[in-house]
Amino acid sequence: MIRKPIVAANWKMYKTPQESIHFISELNNLLLDKEKPSIIFCPPFTSLFHMNEMISDLDISLGAQNVYFENEGAFTGEISINMLKSCGVQYIIIGHSERRHIFNESNKDTNKKIHTVLENEIIPILCIGEKLEDRESNNTRAVLMEQLKDGLAGINKGMMDRIIIAYEPVWAIGTGVNALPDQVKESHAMIRKILLELYDNNLKNNIPILYGGSVKPDNSEELINTKGVDGFLIGGASLNLEMFSKIIEIVHNKFMR
Ligand code: PEP
Repeated sequence: MIRKPIVAANWKMYKTPQESIHFISELNNLLLDKEKPSIIFCPPFTSLFHMNEMISDLDISLGAQNVYFENEGAFTGEISINMLKSCGVQYIIIGHSERRHIFNESNKDTNKKIHTVLENEIIPILCIGEKLEDRESNNTRAVLMEQLKDGLAGINKGMMDRIIIAYEPVWAIGTGVNALPDQVKESHAMIRKILLELYDNNLKNNIPILYGGSVKPDNSEELINTKGVDGFLIGGASLNLEMFSKIIEIVHNKFMR
């Protein structure tokens, strides 16, 4: 085994608390006693509390899909890191493309959130990725560089030991069109190189880089076998018990034989 792969589920705005709990208990029945990759569920906020109560005996971690960078105050509709921590959250997705492109979250916002998350000893899953027009105009590297440079501004080398990057090309998210293995390999290598560049080659080269974007059972074997892929961040397919457990099995087989 190289390093334990990560399979993270982004449930977006799907599943009530009851549906979430049902899903986890069914999944647990399917995977009972099997060795698994690191599995992280990022459900809607409303499911966190109940899921936390039931996962304590299971080999599963909880993540949130977003956080506000202030600790408390008059910020209607936002959620704080302490609220998430009190629900057992250990990971937080930061800068998902839907946050960036639907809710206009900037690199500056993601940076403030990354600081909040790391300072509170939670692990951020920083999502980066280019739009189709960036790729078509050969701007992928520039976009990834900007998202990493600005998103990680002020984050010191030591803190980088506790970060996960998710490469999620915007054009592949929820479209059914995954990035091709060669594109994934190239982008992951690019990200690793940019990270080293940003930290003057003074970084342990072991930051997990996940791929996300239309991962399904039928493409996950090829994608997990792609150089530089340390796991997946999965949206649509993570909502379906059969598909999600199949992907877990495929990832498990690749890394843990
Ligand atoms: C995501 O939401 O992070 C994602 C990758 O979605 P999907 O798997 O549906 O493309």
